[in-house]
Amino acid sequence: MNIFYPKLMITSLLVFMAITLSYASIYPISIDQRIQQSTQITMGKVVQQYSFWDTERQNIYTAHLIAITAYLKKASNQQYIEVVTLGGVIEEEAQIVYPSIELDLHQTYFFFLEAPPLSVMDNNSQVNRTQIPRFGTYSYIQGILPIQQNNYIDYLNKSPKSIQQLLKKTQALTQFIPKHPDGNAFIFEKETTSITIAARTSITLKNGLGQIVPHFHAGIPDEAETLIISGNGFGNTPGIVQFSDANTGGIGFISSNYETDLIYWTDTEIQVKIPARAGTGSVEIYHQNGGLVGSSVIEIEWAINPIFSTYRGYEERTRQKAKFLDRNENGGYTLQINTTEGFLADNQAMASFERALTTWQCQTGINFQLDKTGTTTAFANDGICIIQYSKFLPAGVLGIATSRHKSVGSNTCSKENTLWYLKEFDIQFAPNSQLTSGLSWNFSVNEPTYQQFDFETIALHELGHAHGLGHIVGTDNVMHYAVTNGEARKKLSAQEIAAGLHKMAYSTEENCISRYTPMEPLNMICSTQETNINIAAKVKLFLEGNFNEQQQMMNTNLTDDGLLPMQQPFTIAPFAYQGTETIETVPSDVVDWILLQVRDGTDRTTILETKAFLLRKDGLVIDTDGNEVLTFENLPTGTYYIAIFHRSHLPIISLTTHPFSNVPILYDFTKSASAAMGDTQLKARQNVFMMNAGDFDGNGVINSQDYNLWKQNSSAVNVYLSADVDGNGIINNQDYNLWKANRSKIGMISISE
Ligand SMILES: [Zn+2]
Repeated sequence: MNIFYPKLMITSLLVFMAITLSYASIYPISIDQRIQQSTQITMGKVVQQYSFWDTERQNIYTAHLIAITAYLKKASNQQYIEVVTLGGVIEEEAQIVYPSIELDLHQTYFFFLEAPPLSVMDNNSQVNRTQIPRFGTYSYIQGILPIQQNNYIDYLNKSPKSIQQLLKKTQALTQFIPKHPDGNAFIFEKETTSITIAARTSITLKNGLGQIVPHFHAGIPDEAETLIISGNGFGNTPGIVQFSDANTGGIGFISSNYETDLIYWTDTEIQVKIPARAGTGSVEIYHQNGGLVGSSVIEIEWAINPIFSTYRGYEERTRQKAKFLDRNENGGYTLQINTTEGFLADNQAMASFERALTTWQCQTGINFQLDKTGTTTAFANDGICIIQYSKFLPAGVLGIATSRHKSVGSNTCSKENTLWYLKEFDIQFAPNSQLTSGLSWNFSVNEPTYQQFDFETIALHELGHAHGLGHIVGTDNVMHYAVTNGEARKKLSAQEIAAGLHKMAYSTEENCISRYTPMEPLNMICSTQETNINIAAKVKLFLEGNFNEQQQMMNTNLTDDGLLPMQQPFTIAPFAYQGTETIETVPSDVVDWILLQVRDGTDRTTILETKAFLLRKDGLVIDTDGNEVLTFENLPTGTYYIAIFHRSHLPIISLTTHPFSNVPILYDFTKSASAAMGDTQLKARQNVFMMNAGDFDGNGVINSQDYNLWKQNSSAVNVYLSADVDGNGIINNQDYNLWKANRSKIGMISISE
């Protein structure tokens, strides 16, 4: 527990206030309490893991076989114990639980233990039918402390703490001298590194397409979303790539759990799939001999949870996507409210939960529909999504989100597109009566006090997990692992929305089994606070003709010379766009007009909305009022293709769909050749990319017709004509040369499709 003293002292009375830190859906249980309340404390290494069903086939648990280094509370001669944690994957079923307890194989931990749930005590579920004693952890995730070098990491503390301190404290409170299983006293010896560390190499991070990108995404199996690390001296046998652990806010490190996440490892280059638990922070590469060979900072924008399974046809557990379906024959999932534990009757809690649900529905179109009739059904493996209070959550837990997935395949599916789908999810919240005394929920729209946890914030976070999202390192994010009491985060950040929309995009497309209907996004009118919610995005692009290599910007000669028309110029063929965009004064640094189409995310030939905008010299597209945020009034939140037209450049369309919501996100056509669909649709100049000059008639092909337009007007001055491709108001040889270099180039799109 952290104690803070308020700066303001009133009269001579010493006032102090204890601030309990809540970590997302966890609040701290002191080390003293953990030492005293647990039935056993051990130090040991994870040597084997397997998942099993409990006796009622309600929950999947994972058993971790622990080789015991020492017992710290009671003597025992058992060399091994099993620690069971909730969640796991068995054949065609997967259960994902948040807060998630994930133990890494070969990693050493301190364990605060207690008896496991009765339903996992059946020895028949043990792998060798052995009588190895089974334990659960006391205080859930806080009962497991990873040991790294000579320190341990406590989930709720900001920095690693010394092992010796913990041993001392435990001994003082238990009056027990730590023992090995053989009965000999355990004496902790500090680890000294004997490995010679190879010279550090400088490393470069690229995405799976070989592009340098500002940020990466975690948990996605797609080739493009993998990480390529280039450098030297990695060794020719695989070592370890470690990432900062988003489940601890980046304090600890995690490495890939599954070998199938490593695509290749050579002395100079490594390609890995980024673990879902990876967060913004440092990424470190270790040689097989244990030496650190290089590190760098990686920015992870967001994470989506995959499922690791051999289903269907993989030799080893391999990362796969989990999708949403239309499970209620109304496009998605119905959320039912449990009555027996009193959630439905708690009007304030219901209102707070509904606000959180609406926020997600509005931002990503997630088809989670609330049914308020009430049910006595509770948390179970029954295909029903339940929201409830639970008096049986472990100590220190405010809420748990459990998602149950199932896989299906058929002969028409390949192993790459086997369908893993969300069968149901349950969210359980601790009622006020179960919180530590002095603490309670804030259900209102107001900020919570220091004695309160904000319910809407936690509901938003748990619904984010139900939406498939993992944690993000970043204190402004709802999906950050930690939210302190007294703090509220009632709005989603751009990252969470982007992650949600990414998951929606692959959950709403056809899958390989036609009788499993994809989720249908909700198309709601969201007028909660803002009266007029528009969806928006930002777009950046360069025009080859206007681009100045020294300045890395485009020229503004048309504006400077007063040649830029005050009304959008795309009324002419082939554009025939009749929009009324006009300007009274030209915003500063404007290069020219461009025409932007928003196209259907599932069919890029369908044009949904067209607008004329201005292009600024730094590449940002702005509206006629000079705003970088481009709004579209007539479309629902979703992911769309972006098509760009210019009077004298070859049109382009985005390679991927892009999220449009009320949190604008940038689509950048300047940062990689593959930002536009098709080969050579963007030209490279010194690491930036731009539209190809020369399509003077705007028909999507650069050919002799364009030359004819140049010829007709060559040597014209002070004109606003498409053959002036370098935008200086003069039609001359420079324009011809730009055309000639791109002659015969064919675009991917035309104005009408
Ligand atoms: Zn969480």
